[in-house]
Amino acid sequence: MSQLTDGFGRSFPYLRLSLTEACNFRCSYCLPDGYQADGRPRFLAVDEIARLIRAFAMLGMHKIRLTGGEPSLRKDLDQIIATVAQVPGVRKVAITTNGCLLPRRLPGWHRAGLTALNVSMDSLRRERFHAITGHDRLPEVLEGIALAQALGLQSVKLNAVLLRGLNDDELPQWMAFLRDRPVSVRFIELMRTGDNRDYFERHHLCADVIVGQLLAAGWSERRRAADAGPAREFSHPDHRGSIGIIAPYSKDFCKGCNRLRVTARGDLRLCLFGDFGIALRPLLQSDEDQGALLARITTQLGLKAAGHGLHFGQTGLTPHLASIGG
Ligand code: SAM
Ligand code: SF4
Repeated sequence: MSQLTDGFGRSFPYLRLSLTEACNFRCSYCLPDGYQADGRPRFLAVDEIARLIRAFAMLGMHKIRLTGGEPSLRKDLDQIIATVAQVPGVRKVAITTNGCLLPRRLPGWHRAGLTALNVSMDSLRRERFHAITGHDRLPEVLEGIALAQALGLQSVKLNAVLLRGLNDDELPQWMAFLRDRPVSVRFIELMRTGDNRDYFERHHLCADVIVGQLLAAGWSERRRAADAGPAREFSHPDHRGSIGIIAPYSKDFCKGCNRLRVTARGDLRLCLFGDFGIALRPLLQSDEDQGALLARITTQLGLKAAGHGLHFGQTGLTPHLASIGG
């Protein structure tokens, strides 16, 4: 049972840990000019990560997602996965990646204990994928997804950010893709961040459009489990795969919030769009600080707000999602 509950009755079994702010892609909505290193201190090391995850697991957290930036750029990722997977109480170790290194790296991650894979793939068309991400790497990403299925990973999900005028006409191709593949594609509404305001105005599309198309094509919405995250899931008897919708601007989105975040520099972030971080790193340097670390996490959770202020254009501290892990 999670001891991590907030003042609104929500509990938090799920941690998203960013491993790096660096990225090798230039997604037009996230890092259009690529990652710019700023010379600030290094990202969390394996021993700091081990102390952090042990503390969260003692508080009942059992699912850890590794993200970034691009987490596969960490040379010690196999070791990080193995470390996290061995913490008592951790049941799921997931990763969110742009997928271009999957063919080379996935077998090692799988051996290290990875249980779930999310791959970002904004288009099934090679030239569009290239235009959106700045890299012509769709073939490697597709190869990686096939490999994940061949390895028998428990869960494979694909993330596509819905972009008006850029990829919003691909639902028929996605449905064909899902006919024989037991994967879930999540369409994510574009979120406004500190750096992408004009882009957001041009390309944000309300995900209701996709919901309407799904219902018209005979897809039906699954009942949500009580502990489900914020995605609405749709399925169809003729398709092995499913489609999820993540609509952060929808009413009640934050009511289903079940996750906390820690940045690559060790700040606890209570909300993706919150306006403050809580430094945990000073308490990750020695096992002797475990009591203080547990106290800091549980006390600070009391400050978690009921919801984000995105509707009012408040993007908090977040210039782009690479800075916090999405
Ligand atoms: N680099 C990895 C990747 O792309 O999968 C992990 C980090 S990335 C920030 C995590 C997720 O956030 C990706 O699926 C990405 O498409 C999504 N994302 C980034 N910026 C976004 C935005 N402004 N709105 C919605 N989703 C966004
Ligand atoms: Fe990199 Fe992921 Fe941001 Fe794309 S969405 S630029 S892959 S961090």
